[in-house]
Amino acid sequence: MLGATPGGLLARYSFADGTVDVHRAWTSDEVTSTMARILSDWEHTLPADRAARIVIKPNLNNDLVALTGNCTDLRVLCSLIEGLRSRGYTDITVCDGSNVGIERRNIDTFKRLRVAALVERYGVRIVDLNRTQGRRVPLHAGGNPEVAAVLLDADFIITVPKVKTHAEAGLSIACKNWVGICRGQDKRHMHYDLGRNIAALIAKVRPHLIIVDGLVGMEGNGPGDGDPFHLGVLAASDNPWLNDNVLARTVGFPWRDVPYLVHGLNDGRFTQQDADTIVRTVPILRPIRPAPPRTKLAELSERRELTWLKHMVRPIVSRPEITELAYKAKIVQDVYFPEDDTVTAVARPDDAECGTCRRCEDFCPTHLKVEEIGVKTEPPDCITCLYCWWVCPNGTITLKGDTNFLKRQIDRYKEQIEQL
Ligand code: SF4
Ligand code: SF4
Repeated sequence: MLGATPGGLLARYSFADGTVDVHRAWTSDEVTSTMARILSDWEHTLPADRAARIVIKPNLNNDLVALTGNCTDLRVLCSLIEGLRSRGYTDITVCDGSNVGIERRNIDTFKRLRVAALVERYGVRIVDLNRTQGRRVPLHAGGNPEVAAVLLDADFIITVPKVKTHAEAGLSIACKNWVGICRGQDKRHMHYDLGRNIAALIAKVRPHLIIVDGLVGMEGNGPGDGDPFHLGVLAASDNPWLNDNVLARTVGFPWRDVPYLVHGLNDGRFTQQDADTIVRTVPILRPIRPAPPRTKLAELSERRELTWLKHMVRPIVSRPEITELAYKAKIVQDVYFPEDDTVTAVARPDDAECGTCRRCEDFCPTHLKVEEIGVKTEPPDCITCLYCWWVCPNGTITLKGDTNFLKRQIDRYKEQIEQL
């Protein structure tokens, strides 16, 4: 472990084909100051033209709140957009295409994760990559997914991935985040040969800048049902393979257990010498618990030749009570509920005994102070992300409205998030 100051640069790792910076950050203020530092350090890579089309691709894989470690933290997105705006960039788009289960059920993850409220606050564009124009990008094993044109035509792409375990890919960081640029059900093409197709896709459509949200990571049964952990890292890089290799090392995950990295090495995207240097020089900050092996039934359910059967039984197995059974049998990770929450605000009693606690403040993406939380409840001050409520350890903050789909997340994650 390195004993660095909060919010500081831990280390810069430089290679022949790229650089990876690893920073410490945790609170909203640290995220903002670290993002300012990252954008300043990487200023030379940003477009000279302030009207350039800048696309931000977070990881909004499903509707799990970011503090579970699944999706990109709104604090990171806020500080990134603010940093770009302060440099004069005018054409900013936030986009992602959530997973096939979300897409098939027509669930609006932008709304559920409050990304819609965030982009409204900043007046930037939002594009659902599942529902936009695309062009075919031929890959391996018959994979020929349509990739969203907004990315293919962008002047500058910033990807903002998480650090989380993935039952099939080993880890999901920058390279795995790229599956989300394939439209709708075409994401299934990636799974025809996941490791090779991830490596091939990110070679053909390469992000210009990677900013890793490693604040809250996910370990165990990721990406849909893992456990959150405090990693407290933001990283920046211009090379997705080196980035993922370095980040894998920071969580003590052997890069050879990540198939897309093995393909990256075989394709010459980085060298064995780079990999050896990373193992030798990058400290393990916090070892991650890998995803458990997938059950035989889970593997069977993903078999391409059984797609026809999946289509046949889908009307039955898509019902929440059936997917709950499949979840208990460890066949699926995700259980989705159709009703959005109706929570419109958080409330905090005036006589709250908060003592020296400032956790809600530390997690508020819009930088409200503890005395403003639950008082300033309207946009643009509050985007109703509920982070303050998720992290409050003593029930001081309450919700106005029905939790609906969130109830299952609350039962599964509230205690864990309070302890981050
Ligand atoms: S006050 Fe709470 S709900 Fe509102 S933006 Fe801040 S953290 Fe989110
Ligand atoms: S997190 Fe809860 S206890 Fe802590 S300052 Fe905020 S309202 Fe008070």
